[in-house]
Amino acid sequence: IKHTSSNFIKNIIIEDLKEGKYEEVITRFPPEPNGYLHIGHAKSIILNFDLADEFNGKTNLRFDDTNPLKEDTEYVESIKEDVKWLGYDWDSLFFASDYFEEMYNRAVLLIKKGKAYVDDSTPEEIREMRGTLKEPGKESPYRNRSVEENLDLFNKMRDGEFKDGEKVLRAKIDMTSPNINMRDPIIYRIAHATHHNTGDKWCIYPMYDFAHPLEDAIEGITHSICTLEFEDHRPLYDWVVRECEMEAQPKQIEFARLNITNTVMSKRKLKLLVDEGFADGWDDPRMPTISGLRRKGYTPEAIRAFCKEIGVAKAYSVVDEQMLEHFVREDLKLKAPRTMGIIRPLKVVITNYPEGEVEWLEAENNPENPEMGVRKIPFSREIYIEQDDFMENPPSKYFRLFPGNEVRLKHAYFIKCHDFIKDEDGNVVELHCTYDPETKSGTGFTGRKVKGTLHWVEASHGKQAEFRLYEPFILDQEENEEEGKTFLDYVNPNSLEILQGFVEPEMINAKIQDKFQFFRHGYFNVDSKHTTPEKPVFNRIVSLKSSFKL
Ligand code: ATP
Ligand code: MG
Ligand code: MG
Repeated sequence: IKHTSSNFIKNIIIEDLKEGKYEEVITRFPPEPNGYLHIGHAKSIILNFDLADEFNGKTNLRFDDTNPLKEDTEYVESIKEDVKWLGYDWDSLFFASDYFEEMYNRAVLLIKKGKAYVDDSTPEEIREMRGTLKEPGKESPYRNRSVEENLDLFNKMRDGEFKDGEKVLRAKIDMTSPNINMRDPIIYRIAHATHHNTGDKWCIYPMYDFAHPLEDAIEGITHSICTLEFEDHRPLYDWVVRECEMEAQPKQIEFARLNITNTVMSKRKLKLLVDEGFADGWDDPRMPTISGLRRKGYTPEAIRAFCKEIGVAKAYSVVDEQMLEHFVREDLKLKAPRTMGIIRPLKVVITNYPEGEVEWLEAENNPENPEMGVRKIPFSREIYIEQDDFMENPPSKYFRLFPGNEVRLKHAYFIKCHDFIKDEDGNVVELHCTYDPETKSGTGFTGRKVKGTLHWVEASHGKQAEFRLYEPFILDQEENEEEGKTFLDYVNPNSLEILQGFVEPEMINAKIQDKFQFFRHGYFNVDSKHTTPEKPVFNRIVSLKSSFKL
């Protein structure tokens, strides 16, 4: 056992190998290409790939593309990109739609064995017939059609002789089963729609519960890992493998899906956020998609560490979003250079500093990682600080600037405020300070102490930059369905704040996806969509501090 900690799925695999049930481990990640992947999918990817890797096995990437109405090649491409970005490489790439002929033949086999029949009932009638947990199902009037008639009708379904919804193929199992999934489930339906892969070749499509076990068996998957909702479907999964006389015997194992506070984790809902214009695309940094997390500035390392920490279990749970943030902070701590940026600028004139003079001060790039070296930053008579680093009438315990108070400028000098200018509305728009040349950073000055340390950017060399600060996109909700509300009613109207400020001059060379720690503000990533050569846009990945403890 190489690298991951123990979990119940791994124990099942160890047992299976010991008993000689399987010779090697083959897993798969089987997304439906009907949207972009989210962090929940990352959990599944990491689980499947790492498990197989640990046993020197294989993992397939399989597009579960059996529903032409919702699927698209754009999603296929994005899914491949995201899996690779997470650091994984599949052994084989498959499309379930490549197995349509084989699936059709297996359905014909079921019909020949008297285990499937064509039903003319409407979808509503079938739902009604299948009953509820309390009442048994009722047999369809079409249940006892002859094999010949069923073969003929199924063939005509394939040939396009019927309209959508006119007929379905159902497995003939047990209408009295306590498990509703076993009450003659629909296994094929008619859909006259163009498929992203097979075009107009097919107008009948297999249902998930029929297609998925066949896909697994065709590929020789040994352990088919899925989320807990499918636990009740397992008897049907095994039925399909057995009755279709598949050679391979894949084993379905269920685990609890990942849920995170203050977000939604369903492609259908995420698509709504995009289609309704709430999100700036699938990769909006507020989205829990892999592409959104990437654009926000998350690293694959942070996502992998997070997924390993949460582990796999059978029990439903919701993970605090702060835990995800914890892991990106940890990952970037030693990797991201430190820099200074002003997000709400307030001009400061240092009245005793010679006009027209500029000096270049040394600043370390990461005090926790000295190997990252030093840089030079300009200092002169005019600088910017943050607006909230000055108060005209401060409360006690306010150690930043106020009239008469002295603070340290990071990497530079002590400055003391002696005057300020207000505009017509009473806003403070400029401070006048003096600096003390003796207090220069790095000279070992110990003459007196100050309590506040402020970050700053020199005004004439500093570059304009945009900062984007994020709050949760969707606020957690109680069950409000009855009130007629949907999750869209819980979109946070204050989830994005855009601010115009200044950064150190060399930041103009920052490249898309470069990550920095802005002193006191947190970790930021250079945005891939809105950055221009003249003006970088920085997405805040995460602030510096959190109360969260692992
Ligand atoms: P969604 O409802 O978001 O579309 P899905 O399960 O329908 O999710 P698929 O494309 O079918 O999406 O998922 C591919 C794989 O990812 C499946 O094996 C599924 O079990 C797994 N998966 C999806 N969501 C989660 C989640 N939140 N946590 C863990 N695994 C997940
Ligand atoms: Mg699915
Ligand atoms: Mg889905």
